[in-house]
Amino acid sequence: MLSNESMRKHCSLRAGGMVENLFIPSDFDELSDFLKNNQQPVLMLGLGSNLLVRDSGFAGTAIKLTKFNKLQFQDGIMSAGAGVTLAKLARFCQEKGLKGAEFLSAIPGSVGGALAMNAGAFDAEIWSFVKSVSTINTAGEVFIRDKSAFEIGYRSVKAHTKNEFFIKADLYFANNNAKQNIKDLLKKRNNSQPIGLANCGSVFKNPKGSYAAELIEKSGLKGFCIGGACVSDKHTNFIINQNNASSDDIEKLIKHIQHTVQANFDIELETEVVIIG
Ligand SMILES: Cc1cc2nc3c(=O)[nH]c(=O)nc-3n(C[C@H](O)[C@H](O)[C@H](O)COP(=O)(O)OP(=O)(O)OC[C@H]3O[C@@H](n4cnc5c(N)ncnc54)[C@H](O)[C@@H]3O)c2cc1C
Repeated sequence: MLSNESMRKHCSLRAGGMVENLFIPSDFDELSDFLKNNQQPVLMLGLGSNLLVRDSGFAGTAIKLTKFNKLQFQDGIMSAGAGVTLAKLARFCQEKGLKGAEFLSAIPGSVGGALAMNAGAFDAEIWSFVKSVSTINTAGEVFIRDKSAFEIGYRSVKAHTKNEFFIKADLYFANNNAKQNIKDLLKKRNNSQPIGLANCGSVFKNPKGSYAAELIEKSGLKGFCIGGACVSDKHTNFIINQNNASSDDIEKLIKHIQHTVQANFDIELETEVVIIG
């Protein structure tokens, strides 16, 4: 257990306050024992690629499931621990001759984070491939839940049960002739996104019938900065941490974008990035 851990190290925006504790369980028993005895708030952390922790930090324990990294393919079902990276899952599916998982290679998150966000790209979303998930609740009890236990939407997943975290997914990918190719998808990504700069992907969800990036660009905000946080020149739905931005800089920029787009187009931009604290 680490104390007073800066979330800068754990979030792709390279900003964020401290969490009181960071716990990286070695296995399921350690996780379950911890949860049974824990009274503090819990923040489940994936790869931090969609997360902004406020500068004031998080008074509780962040749990990182990095070691829940088993991948297994049996009887047509791909079982992936919550800590498996999406890139690794996509490559493993490719090795097994399965089609449909290629899009995951373009998303720099973990299976747990992708399940929580219904991550998607190139017209595909992770929950389209889910057969069932294993969850653990704050009392350390484990459940197997099928898809019907969740309301799944665009970058939105609402569980019918409370206080459960994902520890594993059983996924089904077809063995067919679908044509996507990991190399091509990554090339497309590299051409359209500010790769190599600290960011969290799309900051806002696309509103129905329009694109957040287009609304932001038409509002004249391309390259606009507050403190060290700037709207990317390459993709206007991305905020980049250009110069040691604080979480506060980033959140102020988020609010400025929302107000400007609202004033110009009467459209409310909803954040995709999860803000904690
Ligand atoms: C360059 C870049 C490109 C991106 N492109 C895309 C894209 O094309 N499509 C897309 O959908 N996203 C994209 N993202 C955003 C991000 O990668 C995804 O949302 C990803 O699924 C987040 O996974 P993570 O492991 O990093 O989760 P985190 O960022 O660590 O967490 C995200 C949320 O999930 C929760 N969570 C994490 N693990 C668990 C768990 N085990 N159980 C329950 N809750 C959990 C967290 O508490 C938090 O609320 C991009 C990000 C970047 C930086």
